[in-house]
Amino acid sequence: MSTITAERGWDLSPLYKGPGDPRIDQDLESLQKLAKTFRRDFRGRIDSDRLSADLLVAALKNYDDLQRKGLVPYLYAHLLFSQDSRPDAHKALLARVRELWSAVSQEVLFFELEILKIDQARFLEILKDPEAAAYAHYLQQLRAHAPYTLSEEVEQALKRKDLSGKEAFVQLFEELTSSLRFTFTMPGEETEREVTGEELLSLLHHPQRETRERAYTCFLEKHAENALVLTSCFNNLLLDHAKEVELRRYPEIMTPTHLSSETEPVMVERMMEVTEDNYSLAQEYFTLKRDLLGLGEMKNTDLYAPLSAAERKVSFDEARTLVIDSFRAFSARLADEADAFFREGCIDVDPAPGKTGGAFCMGMLPGLSPYVLLNYTGNLRDVSTLAHELGHGVHFSLSQAQNLFHYHASLPMAETASVFGEMLLTRHLLAHEQDPQVKISLLCAKLEDIIATTFRQTVLTRFEQAAHNKRADGLLSPDDYCRLWSEENARLFGDAVTMIEPYRWGWSYISHFIHARFYCYSYVFGELLVLALYQKYLEEGDAFVPRYMDLLSQGGSRNPQEMLAPLGINLADPDFWQKGYDAVRGLLEELKALVNR
Ligand SMILES: [Zn+2]
Repeated sequence: MSTITAERGWDLSPLYKGPGDPRIDQDLESLQKLAKTFRRDFRGRIDSDRLSADLLVAALKNYDDLQRKGLVPYLYAHLLFSQDSRPDAHKALLARVRELWSAVSQEVLFFELEILKIDQARFLEILKDPEAAAYAHYLQQLRAHAPYTLSEEVEQALKRKDLSGKEAFVQLFEELTSSLRFTFTMPGEETEREVTGEELLSLLHHPQRETRERAYTCFLEKHAENALVLTSCFNNLLLDHAKEVELRRYPEIMTPTHLSSETEPVMVERMMEVTEDNYSLAQEYFTLKRDLLGLGEMKNTDLYAPLSAAERKVSFDEARTLVIDSFRAFSARLADEADAFFREGCIDVDPAPGKTGGAFCMGMLPGLSPYVLLNYTGNLRDVSTLAHELGHGVHFSLSQAQNLFHYHASLPMAETASVFGEMLLTRHLLAHEQDPQVKISLLCAKLEDIIATTFRQTVLTRFEQAAHNKRADGLLSPDDYCRLWSEENARLFGDAVTMIEPYRWGWSYISHFIHARFYCYSYVFGELLVLALYQKYLEEGDAFVPRYMDLLSQGGSRNPQEMLAPLGINLADPDFWQKGYDAVRGLLEELKALVNR
């Protein structure tokens, strides 16, 4: 049933009635019971000579059950908190489910560790059973970590020590950066006041050049003032990773990322090299943008400058129509699946006090609708965000038939549907727009997005690699980080863009470096893959549609290469990545033709 707010807010009633719903306690209690029974019934029996397919399947089903019991309250608590973080009831529920979840994780940790120890010949024998085979990808993915996994006691001890080690530095970084207060005179205001970092960064899109530079300088200089703590967080996280590589005997620093992302080291290196070979393409765009802005010199604070001061406003209803129509032009099913989010109260639209910033799509579990959160303010970027998040949403809706372990796409595939959704929207807008000025803006926005997800993420990954390698020789000083950062950026910008002096601190606020190792190359992969898929669509027309929908419906049940092969995509083909940049070249030529007209 939908509530009165269903049109612009979430209807969470299919989950619970509210934070005080007694069913939450019941579910959490049965979660604890299930975890205890699970440990009693299966511990020591998976890593055993008597393991049969039946026993493993029974254990997997139990494991699935208990995960679901815990995930519903866990996800519900996250949704409530992101919708409004102020009420104590929301904070308390989140803290409670987190603690419980961590206790339960300790209790059931044995299961995945025992799966790693199953003898390979026996494991292959078990996979011949059709019921066990349904979990094959999950099991194989897990077992890929086997050579680097330590005993249960050591793993538990490491997990506990992480709280005061790695996680403490992540926490310190988070607390420090979210406590930073910036004093700034906002455009149109007479006096200085306190503003947030988000507000300053959003001014990079401001039409006035001086405002953009002043805002970013204020933001970066505040980070420079905190160099001591920020550098210490980076140094310790880098050292922690080096110790992890040593302890687990990973062959190289990126191995754990490759294992979780199901990527081949050679393939990723090739992808980044091809990206670097195409840096001149980005430089060509920067120079064109400089001319469009009428500037003599392009600074890095001009990269996201709008082309016209007056921005077009789009009502949310209009945005809904635009996105759904653009999806419908591709596939009626895609459009219907996306439209269900509006009808069923699964989108929280408006900015509100206490609501989390940005946008996301929470995938929930098979059998439960995903939820989309937006902070819709009516500009064209917000319409793109809607297309992006609904792309994620439809990806989850189409994966509903997968089991819990195969429901989420693997990291590099996770942005496929979202970025593809944005592409459909851009193409739809371009096709229906008459005003060449608006078309130019749309193409620039698309190219800037692509540059941010491919070239910039490659710069980030190269910086991270360089920092990890240098850490092996000892502590890095703040200047060391600044130098590595400036060097990598200079390779991308060439002579086309001048970096403002404080930009040397640009590394210090990027939370990807703090939260995960080498996460950023996944964006490059995702973007280039979508460009390739879109190219296939242009070549094959409607015949491509069912194959694309089938790709999405597979969730994370196979590895990227296996899923992409039926679409004629071979990731090992050295030319594959260049084709992505050929598509970017196509967009750039399209833009030039409009500009020259
Ligand atoms: Zn996304």
